[in-house]
This record gives sequence, C-alpha cells and structure tokens, in this order.
Amino acid sequence: MPELPEVEITRRGLAAHLTGLSIKDVVIRNGSLRWPIPKNLPTLLRGCTIVSLKRRAKYLLMDCGSGTLILHLGMSGSLRILPYVMSAAPARGTPKVGNPLSRKPDAELTPPVGTPSGCENLCEAPLLRSDPPAGKHDHFDLILSNGTLVRLRDPRRFGAVLWHSGDPATHPLLASLGPEPLEKDFDANYLYLVTRGRSVSIKQCIMDNHIVVGVGNIYANESLFRAGIRPQLAAGKLSLPRCTKLVAEIRATLAEAINLGGSTLRDFVNTSGQPGYFQQTYWVYGRAGEPCRRCGAPIKQIKQGQRSSFYCGKCQK
Ligand SMILES: [Zn+2]
Repeated sequence: MPELPEVEITRRGLAAHLTGLSIKDVVIRNGSLRWPIPKNLPTLLRGCTIVSLKRRAKYLLMDCGSGTLILHLGMSGSLRILPYVMSAAPARGTPKVGNPLSRKPDAELTPPVGTPSGCENLCEAPLLRSDPPAGKHDHFDLILSNGTLVRLRDPRRFGAVLWHSGDPATHPLLASLGPEPLEKDFDANYLYLVTRGRSVSIKQCIMDNHIVVGVGNIYANESLFRAGIRPQLAAGKLSLPRCTKLVAEIRATLAEAINLGGSTLRDFVNTSGQPGYFQQTYWVYGRAGEPCRRCGAPIKQIKQGQRSSFYCGKCQK
C-alpha cells in the first residue's frame, strides 16, 4: 500500500512535470473507485491549467484554478506520466510514438483538433493512443497539453478521484485531519497533551488520522522500535521525554523513506509500468521470528486493531 513517503515522492515526481500545463481532456474508463469519479470532470477540467500539486495526508491536491482535483492511491494505486498521440483512426495495436518526455513542454507534438470527450466506456477513447496502450486497471487519464498524459492505475480500486471547488481543507475527507507529521504543529507537547487520559495503545494513537496523519503501519512499527517504545503501551502513560523521542523518530523515519524514494523519481516518468514504490530495510516490520538487528532477540508479532505489530521485547519498553 502506498504510504505517506510514496505519496510524497509521487507528488514531487509529478509536480515537476505538471505544473503550468493545461488539461486538454479527461478519460474515465472505469469510474467505480472507492467513490464514483464525478461524471462531469471532463467538462470541469478541459482547458484548466495545473497551478500546483500539493499533498495533505495521503491525498494529492491538484490545484486547477477553478477547483481542486483530489487524488488518493488507495491500496494499490499508482500514477504515471506517459506519451500519447491523437489519431484520426481508431487505435489498433501498439502505436509507434516518440517520447515527448524527452522534449520541452512546448514540443511540437500537438494533437489534432477534435480531441475525444471523456469516455465512460471500459475502452480506450477512440482517438487517443498512448504508449503503452491503457490496460485493464488503467481507470483514469488526464490528457495534457504537452503530448503526455497522467494515468491512474489501480487494480484494487480503493483509490479516489474527486473534485472540490472550494478550499480543499474544507472537503469532508480533509476537514477533521490531524497535523502533518513533518510539520511543526506535530511536536512533543502536542503528542503529550493529545494522549493524556488515553488507554488506547500508543501505536493505535499514532496511526489515528485525527491525531497525526500519514503514519501507516510500517512507519508506526519502525518509529516505535527506534524510539524504544512498546507498541501496546497505553498512550496516556507516555512521558514527555518519550513523546519527544517518538516524535523525532516518526519524523526521521518518514524523512529517510522520502529521501530514499527520491532515487526512484524516474519511475513516474517512464513507460515501464512499475509503480514508484520502493523497498526499504526494516528494523522490525515484517520480521517476526527474525533476530532483532540491535540485540538479536527474536522479533515478536501481535495484532492491534486488526493490524500486525512487530517489536523487540528487549529493546522496547
Ligand atoms: Zn532488540
């Protein structure tokens, strides 16, 4: 599942390519994602310029001037930039197209007049030929002015493509979210105050989006190990110094993952079809029964709130 670092890397990779481009058209092949893709998106987006691409929690927020396109990658989503050509004839087979990604944004590959309208069918829009052609799980394309498109692939369809015409912070999905883990609102005093009187485990607390966003299961496990805190400890029992340590380790764990993912930026602008997720070496996550990398004791695994927790019984108190 894409966690916050993957979403942030996706944002950085895409923002560099998208900002300032205009949207020529929208293709919806399968609008049945976690929520339906609004059917009027082609009308809303045609001709809009992409002002910026920001992130809030794991939502990507594409400012299109008249509103914001809200994208979520769900369990299995990825976004890629691909070259396309417009053709007068229906697409057949794999077309031979140049790679506009290697050109400047104002390249000469200008699609002919008469672009396809948003397609509600399960097929490729008839005049659009991308390289590679859209596959079964490629549900949504944004056709851009420079001969490229942004394609959402989401095999499990838990992702989302939504539109909000007001301030994105007021969207119901975003309005009640807690602070960003890498921003200054999330500090030791905040974590200390918000956990007082809480008997729920500290791991469930830091995974609660109302307390802090974007700390998924992997990073919660890893941060707690690095902070020496047992995942099942009642949140209300965490002292202020231990809150300081935990906040620092959550920030460091996420920042390191983002930096590591920086080397995979090219994955968002090629045609390999590989999502830009990256593999890391973990201290505890997914390592049940294996020796702790610090003390050699076997890593334990328990269930907390339906999620697997991994920890070292010696290093974490
Ligand atoms: Zn250990």
